[in-house]
Amino acid sequence: MKKLALHWQIILGMVLGVAFALLMTYFSWGPKFIGDWIKPFGTIFINALKLIAVPLILGSLIKGISDLKDISQLSKMGARTIALYVGTTVIAVCLGLGVVNLVKPGNAISEETRTDLVESYGGVVNAAQEGARQQQEAGPLQALVDLVPENIIGAAGDNGNMLQVIFFAIFFGVCLILIPEKQGEVVKKFFDGFNDVILKMIDIIMITAPYGVFALLAALVVESPSADLFAALAMYALCVLLGMFLMICFYNLLVWVFTKRKPSFFMKGMSSVQLLAFSTSSSAATLPVTMDRVEKKLGVSEDVTSFVLPIGATINMDGTSLYQAVAAVFIAQAFGMDLSFGTQMGIVATATLASIGSAAVPGAGMVMLVIVLAQAGIPEAGLALIFAVDRPLDMCRTTVNVTGDATVSMLVAKSIGKLKDIDLLKKELRD
Ligand code: ASP
Repeated sequence: MKKLALHWQIILGMVLGVAFALLMTYFSWGPKFIGDWIKPFGTIFINALKLIAVPLILGSLIKGISDLKDISQLSKMGARTIALYVGTTVIAVCLGLGVVNLVKPGNAISEETRTDLVESYGGVVNAAQEGARQQQEAGPLQALVDLVPENIIGAAGDNGNMLQVIFFAIFFGVCLILIPEKQGEVVKKFFDGFNDVILKMIDIIMITAPYGVFALLAALVVESPSADLFAALAMYALCVLLGMFLMICFYNLLVWVFTKRKPSFFMKGMSSVQLLAFSTSSSAATLPVTMDRVEKKLGVSEDVTSFVLPIGATINMDGTSLYQAVAAVFIAQAFGMDLSFGTQMGIVATATLASIGSAAVPGAGMVMLVIVLAQAGIPEAGLALIFAVDRPLDMCRTTVNVTGDATVSMLVAKSIGKLKDIDLLKKELRD
């Protein structure tokens, strides 16, 4: 019998996970059973993905850079990558602002619902405000200072320090090109082999993905807050989803126009990555699979994926920035505030920066939203209004985030002649 493709297996895992959890809610002991016996497998799955993030960045980035013939190739790729990342993020924010200003979902919120929501989620809001305040208190150059670790072992010991590990790997890779080839040969061979081992680990972890996703979704369903509050937020959520849908269309258009790859090819190649991003709500946890699929299914050469994607997972979050723009305006509307054009332009700038600063983990976008709200003079307590639907939207924005990273890697690859010929790729996939 023909084996089911991985993305179908993952979808099956998701559907069965939700169905199983819904069934279990009929039994008084059901939610506890899922918490004790099912959820841990989801946690193990995410941990296994996170476990290889740092070695993967080190291995693939050092290999990728040392495969480049000279430094000028790297700077060309770097400049295009950053320009495309910032450009797509600004477009995402503008799209979000356009949709929320047209639909005006916040005007539908009644005074009573607003008080209800603020009461239910007040505690969470305080924690998010505290996190964002710490970020704001830092000086203007703190982000630059944070880029350079004082100890690489320390930096590699915390997945939140991904940019520091990237800095070290780029620095190391560049110096490997700069020393005479003969001297660097052994080191290069080591990292080539190291990288292959990590890729094998990803293959093995992905075999367990349908089960991991089953456990994650089952736990999510039994832990989600009460359903009646969701109704008041449906319009807001629809605005975010509409914006994200348009963004995905925009990616497909970019890929089609610049690389001549059809949307069906792009979306099919990305399907398992998107499903994984959706289930884990973390671009960082999805990174190993994004790198694998973008190379094998979309035909982007390894030296491009290994440079563009780890950076993208940490700084390029189009879904997050779009959501922040919609959420900020929605909260303002709910509080009866009229935002001027100037304030909305301020939101474009802060949402772009806040999404760059958001960590690639679940819920990070909401913490950074506090900064966008504060900058625009919108009451931060409004966070409580949107908290109930944040998790499902986080799942969707993470899906958009990884799709944006893949789009940019295809455009960069095409621009420097590192995108595999489509017939060759199809032949390889068949073999
Ligand atoms: N969960 C998102 C990601 O990892 C970040 C966020 O918007 O919360 O890409």
